[in-house]
Amino acid sequence: LEGGSSVAFESPTGTGKTITALVAAIEFARRKGKKVLYVTRTNSQQEQVIKELRLLKRGEEIRAVPFQGRANLCLLYGEIEESRDFTSESLSRFCSLRKKKVLNGDQSACIYYNEKVSSPEVSSYIYSTVPDVDSIYNYGLDNVVCPYEALKWALRDAEIVIVPYALYLNPVTAQRLLYSWGVEREDLVVVLDEAHNIPTIARELASFEIAVGSVNASEREAQEYGDFELMPGYRTSDLCEMVRNAIYDIVRDKVGESEEVRIPFSDLREYIMVGNHISGETYDDLLRYLEIMGEFVAEQKEKSGKVPRSRILHLYNVLSAWENVDEDRYVAVASSEGGGKLIAACLDPSSLLTPLKVSKTIHMSGTLAPFDVYRDLTGFEDMNFLSVPYMFPRENRSIVYYSGLSTRFSEFNEETAERMARMIRDLISTVARNTLVFFPSYNVKQKVCGYLDGMRYLNEERDMSQIEVMDLVNRFRKGGLPLFAVTGGRIAEGMDFPGSELEMVIIAGLPFPKPTAQQRALQEYYERKYGRGWEYAVVFPTVIKLKQEIGRLIRREDDVGMAVILDRRASMFRKYIPDMRESLDPVRDAEAFFTMSRN
Ligand code: SF4
Repeated sequence: LEGGSSVAFESPTGTGKTITALVAAIEFARRKGKKVLYVTRTNSQQEQVIKELRLLKRGEEIRAVPFQGRANLCLLYGEIEESRDFTSESLSRFCSLRKKKVLNGDQSACIYYNEKVSSPEVSSYIYSTVPDVDSIYNYGLDNVVCPYEALKWALRDAEIVIVPYALYLNPVTAQRLLYSWGVEREDLVVVLDEAHNIPTIARELASFEIAVGSVNASEREAQEYGDFELMPGYRTSDLCEMVRNAIYDIVRDKVGESEEVRIPFSDLREYIMVGNHISGETYDDLLRYLEIMGEFVAEQKEKSGKVPRSRILHLYNVLSAWENVDEDRYVAVASSEGGGKLIAACLDPSSLLTPLKVSKTIHMSGTLAPFDVYRDLTGFEDMNFLSVPYMFPRENRSIVYYSGLSTRFSEFNEETAERMARMIRDLISTVARNTLVFFPSYNVKQKVCGYLDGMRYLNEERDMSQIEVMDLVNRFRKGGLPLFAVTGGRIAEGMDFPGSELEMVIIAGLPFPKPTAQQRALQEYYERKYGRGWEYAVVFPTVIKLKQEIGRLIRREDDVGMAVILDRRASMFRKYIPDMRESLDPVRDAEAFFTMSRN
């Protein structure tokens, strides 16, 4: 940080990255008259930072505020609306109107917006406890005070603020945060937690889609609000029907039996024009009037006291963004999923990250190598790299791969699935330690589990809620049953299993990205840009997932653990996982490893 503007800091899991980054960032910020912004991906990661901050605060006075958007903190809209699916813009508008009414004397407009939001008592509760989202939400309910406004007020004197990526990578919400805090980007040291996820998070935030489901919702909204004519002969519902039919036709003509295909962006406009015998000018006019109709609906909702979210306005926003998309950085994809949709998939997320470069940044993760790939993917050209070597006793960890199996598409059949199931069963019964099994997909898991008749295990399922996943994890931690999970799911990253809570990880097939149209486009993009498409789009994300899964094993100095990779293709990742070796008989090697570790 002294020498440049950003540093990437890779350190193995369990080595105290969070506390190290916090101490370094606070010390540097105090010396240079700056503030610290800590950015996390999930609420559980935010809670981890809060825990560390509470420990740090025992020794000294640190004013820290964990901040989130209104979607998680507004107490009022949950009482009025059934849905919790609102954009930050519509909630901001809803809140502004309510506050304005309160300031004009109508306290009933929002009972939570009162003098308590700026009271020393509430600010002191925030500074002294550094509450997580649930705690501040419940505090707000119990004390009849708005958690969002109270946190916003407390921001003014905060030395450290903790926010989710979704808030800070959105230019509008980031600007609001900085304004309320009273700082400029130049004044910040930004710690980016689990930074290996940044390219994916930024890509997801910058991508958008036009789905049949949301077109239907817009049509229903139009009918509810009178379905006015946008132009003579064209009602809002007619335009919805044009868009829906165009998506159906594109999916029928181009996607066929595959799940998704790449299409030209111009397809949507052309299918609408040809299918409905209208000119490009008429389509442009219809879009313009659709925006007016959307605004009208939002105003009507606002007048009736609801959140001014309009499905029609959303449809206008995505249709208009589709027309103006930067085709150098985005690719259009048609998919049959959910009845049909068109996706504008962002390939290069670096421009979304550009504003972050104004601050000093610390990119922190257990898995950032290869660094040059990370640097190119994020666009932080003048980044310094620091790598902390593996520091736990090497004899306590074993990583092996087995060449007799693979989940490669052309090789994974019923016979391979049966052999893989037998290997998993033998490993678990021989070792008899708490074991997590990661599969590359739900389909592979289902196929292998089909050969595990009679075996008892805990199973992460596709549609589980966060509460159900946590319940599963807690049952697993108590011991007795293995847990079967999926790569990239909620268990593969960010969960701690110290000591005997986890002693063996089986990776039942390498977590290569699925060869979808988007994935192929990504590879082509980085091939064109850097001549290393395979490395950027395939190797980098696979190495990260592998290392994250292996990283679940050792969280403390005295932890013992073994990772068994059941895929011969693991050999190509040797340079990224130097401790990994081939095993000709994983069951015998696992037995020997745990016998030795007992002695
Ligand atoms: Fe919601 Fe708070 Fe705004 Fe009231 S003041 S509308 S509770 S965010």
